[in-house]
Amino acid sequence: MYNEQTILAKISTAYIGQVITYFDTIGSTNDYAKTWARAGAIEGALVIADRQTAGKGRLGRVWDSPDGEGVWMSLIVRPAISPQAISQLTLVAGLSMCRAIRELTGLDAEIKWPNDIVVQGRKVCGILAEMGMQGPIINYVVIGVGVNVNTEVFGQDLPHASSLKLCSGHSYDRIELIEMFARYFEVAYDCFKEQGNLSGLIEDYKKCCLTLGKQVILIEQEIQRCVKVEDITDTGALLIRNEQGIIEEIHSGEVSVRGLYGYI
Ligand code: ADP
Repeated sequence: MYNEQTILAKISTAYIGQVITYFDTIGSTNDYAKTWARAGAIEGALVIADRQTAGKGRLGRVWDSPDGEGVWMSLIVRPAISPQAISQLTLVAGLSMCRAIRELTGLDAEIKWPNDIVVQGRKVCGILAEMGMQGPIINYVVIGVGVNVNTEVFGQDLPHASSLKLCSGHSYDRIELIEMFARYFEVAYDCFKEQGNLSGLIEDYKKCCLTLGKQVILIEQEIQRCVKVEDITDTGALLIRNEQGIIEEIHSGEVSVRGLYGYI
């Protein structure tokens, strides 16, 4: 169990994670972060919980967040970007967490586009961004990040899940992972804000992305297509070659990607 002081003492960034609210148990860190953001939380404010009772995935799915075994956190940012650009932020967060996991564990973590982190073919981290608007302008973006760190057992309903411990045989200090993520995210996010897109990050992102160059199944509103992933753009979209051989640009919003023979 942690508290705000012990976590803050380890974080050495300028502004990411420099204000923290910590909970032993909460419904969803994203929901709390949205309330806090509406009440004026500053950019970089971070909500961390030891356990979530109602953790959320994309498209209304559930994110399993058991007690004391993972990093369940939500970061509040307030970028001056268009609402369409928000999905790029989840790629920034995915790249940052991929780097943090590699540094902490030495495991060969990779990104499954747009932002799941996969180790040894299984999902160890999911990311969910939600935004609040003020008229046409973004008021805040909450980036929820869930990492299975020391989990030893997953339910049968999560056949594609794994943890850093299951992959490496070691337990890890969750604060160290939070510290590394905050450090990598701050550098990447500053670069993103300066460029207005992912152009300064995309080469590194592509190197970490296992989806690139693969034949995958694209699932869009229950319609499945087998396509080849040719490239990823500076705005984080997939360039795919469809069944007719034509290149299409795919945005992350409502799409899920699966491998030909399963999750990867
Ligand atoms: P997808 O990978 O299909 O895009 P999401 O990113 O929205 O899905 O994540 C939600 C899904 O992740 C859930 O439907 C469930 O299958 C899976 N999941 C839930 N909790 C965990 C967890 N702790 N670790 C790994 N996978 C999980």
